[in-house]
Amino acid sequence: MIDKAVVRVPGKINLQLSVGPLQKDGYHELATVFQSVSLFDELTLTPIESGAITIDCGGKAGVPEGKENLAYRAAELMMDRFDIESGVAIKIKKEIPIAGGMAGGSANAGAAIVGIDSLFSLGLSRNEMEKLGAELGADVPFTISGGTAIGTGRGDRITPVLSRGTYYWVLALSTSGLSTPAVYSECDRLREGMDIAAPHVSDELLQSLTHGDAKSLGKKLVNDLQPAACSLKPALRLILDVGIDYGALGGIVSGSGPTVAFLAENEEHALDLVVALTSSGVVGNVVRAQGPVPGARIVTDRT
Ligand code: ATP
Repeated sequence: MIDKAVVRVPGKINLQLSVGPLQKDGYHELATVFQSVSLFDELTLTPIESGAITIDCGGKAGVPEGKENLAYRAAELMMDRFDIESGVAIKIKKEIPIAGGMAGGSANAGAAIVGIDSLFSLGLSRNEMEKLGAELGADVPFTISGGTAIGTGRGDRITPVLSRGTYYWVLALSTSGLSTPAVYSECDRLREGMDIAAPHVSDELLQSLTHGDAKSLGKKLVNDLQPAACSLKPALRLILDVGIDYGALGGIVSGSGPTVAFLAENEEHALDLVVALTSSGVVGNVVRAQGPVPGARIVTDRT
């Protein structure tokens, strides 16, 4: 056993999020294309006395520090599955927006799996860790692999995608989050009486990625949850309009929102967009991020 494992894990945006009809089990089949972007949470894991799991998020508002924290649940799963007798203390430094549609909680679960694998020298493959992650939530496997990938099923069946080059994103962050279940319910409500087809990943979007063509990718961004997120938070429509008016190649609500992601042509264009969006007064907090980046990775594992 080592003294400490530090894991850095990125947030994600969905370049495509196609949502199938509501199924009898309450879930929806998804066809999604994820991309990890350079907003990172950092988890520090240290062994403590037998059986205990502690979570310290520095009192960050909106992040539970007990059993409801997804990193706690990941640690509990790992301890049970691998008969680990030691306990673990997990410190979380959050940069990924909370309840922002960027899979921050799932990313912390993915990072906890990677951290515990390293801390207790379990020697698991990425694939084995992703399978464990899928037991905790549909978004968790992708946070371990990162990069750019297709997600099918509930979004948990991951296939990497060829993506050339770097994409420059400008993210409009909201001060208050949106609950993912509430956004799905609103989506179902808005679709009442409509015939919804089974979801498919767009070949055209995949081609844009293969060619590293940001301009064409900008036009292909699509999120079936966007009308629902905008219905619950009408300010998102204005933010999307303003970003496009200021020359973004495309704009999309990320996942269940409320983060809005704008695609820029290059780094300079991204900076211009940040300035324009900030001075427009419609967004409080605007940050830049690049993608794709790798998923949960050990930064250092020794004190
Ligand atoms: P997703 O995109 O996966 O639907 P999200 O990015 O919209 O999720 P999260 O930041 O994962 O949202 O947070 C959703 C809720 O999960 C929070 O409101 C919080 O109560 C809970 N939560 C549990 N564990 C964590 C964690 N480690 N970090 C942040 N939130 C967490």
